[in-house]
Amino acid sequence: MDAARSTYERALTWFEWISRIPRGSGDTGRASVAVASWARDRGLEVTSDEFGNLVIRKDATPGREGEPSLALQAHLDMVCQKVAGSSHDFSRDPIDVVEEDGWLHADGTTLGADDGAGVAVCLAILEDEGLSHPSLEAVLTVDEEVGLVGAREMDCSRIRSRRMLNLDLTVAGQFVVGCSAGTEARVSLPLSRERGVREVVRLTLSGLRGGHSGIDIALPRHNAALLMGEVLSRLLSGGRPDGGHAETVAADGALAGLALVSLRSGEKRNAIPAEATAELALPAGAGPEAARDLDRALGPVRAALARACTGDDAGARLEAERLGEREVGLLSAKEAAAALALLSELPQGVSAMSREFPGATETSDNVSIVRLGEKGLDALVSVRTNRPGGAGPIVAGVRAACERAGAALEVEGGRDPWLCDPESPFVCEARATYRALFGEEPTVTTTHGGLECGVFSEALPGLEVFSLGPDVENAHTPSERMRLESLERLCAFVRALVEGTEPRMAVDQGR
Ligand SMILES: [Zn+2]
Repeated sequence: MDAARSTYERALTWFEWISRIPRGSGDTGRASVAVASWARDRGLEVTSDEFGNLVIRKDATPGREGEPSLALQAHLDMVCQKVAGSSHDFSRDPIDVVEEDGWLHADGTTLGADDGAGVAVCLAILEDEGLSHPSLEAVLTVDEEVGLVGAREMDCSRIRSRRMLNLDLTVAGQFVVGCSAGTEARVSLPLSRERGVREVVRLTLSGLRGGHSGIDIALPRHNAALLMGEVLSRLLSGGRPDGGHAETVAADGALAGLALVSLRSGEKRNAIPAEATAELALPAGAGPEAARDLDRALGPVRAALARACTGDDAGARLEAERLGEREVGLLSAKEAAAALALLSELPQGVSAMSREFPGATETSDNVSIVRLGEKGLDALVSVRTNRPGGAGPIVAGVRAACERAGAALEVEGGRDPWLCDPESPFVCEARATYRALFGEEPTVTTTHGGLECGVFSEALPGLEVFSLGPDVENAHTPSERMRLESLERLCAFVRALVEGTEPRMAVDQGR
């Protein structure tokens, strides 16, 4: 059998094996122990730390000891998401891996190809006794998906290599040499309320696509938190969410006395909010006609939403549900208007595209978590940039909006983003290998997402690292799937790079 084909088949075997071990972020103990004993069983040197991060080492093939050591890097944890109604228990049940039309997918859950595929490629390469290789390391981290926690906590002095392949990309054919760094701007506007017993109506905005704020931010998709803010402005004051249509809700005065109680949208700092809920209190002493008036007022709001929400967001729905009478905290019209005005001034989306890497997003922000409740309005603005200092103008815009509204602002983060020289010797060698193997150039670019490469580059001066991977669609969702052909190509490429086609110079690694 063709050697590269056999690496691919081993990778599939180890992918199915790792898929049987529960390994959601925060629950990687069993996977880490299993992979460590897998390596020990094969006579490989393994070091583990208290978090479960692993470094597995394999000595160079005789004659190649003088070459620079190469690290293959992946993360052990996966995102656990399942379809509504699934009885899958991620703490106990294996992932069902299904092959269909050249793809692997799971049965109603995330597949965990992000980054089980990377782990599987590491094991397949380490196991391959027929492969000539320099000294190899596999650096396998935990809890990447919850803020690169494993990599950040890791004692990187355990890593000897100064050349590293990160196997955590979800687009085949790309060499990614840079990723974004995040800055979080926390906005809080204190608001006072009056208690009152009122008939309460809950509005739910759903059916938007949302997405990952690093990967999907350039797509024409709405932010549910901001859209709900516009809906509320319109209901409370007759403001116009779609920029100037004739209908105004408050024109007939029917909704005078409507009060804002709460707004809630977004759960994760790296997701574009796809859903929002708000509670409104009907006017005091209002009869059943008040609810009917609200229903009527929602008609033009829904029509405006339908006009604004097309393409990916065409499934947007705004539903109203009567919750009955209860005691709630009511915002005055003035305070509600101030909160909604502040929300409407927060920037959202892409503010700069890369000049060096065509088509790559350089700077963006996402209003990721919004809570309007008892204490006031809290909004988290998550900024990403691939340019040092790139977050500055967005943070300045948020600060100006906060000053106008009298809101407090806390800013956190502001690390420099990772960028590896695309002309570095390692990347050039990898490009030549790719060209020789596939007869075409890889696309050298940056990602607007986050990668562990940045953490390792900071910790290991002189590290040359880039990221690549198979095609994985819909990562982090139950529709995640991996294209088998792209995994086969990835295996062939990693194998060829490890094996080396050109004579290499021995270098002193200084360790
Ligand atoms: Zn990943």
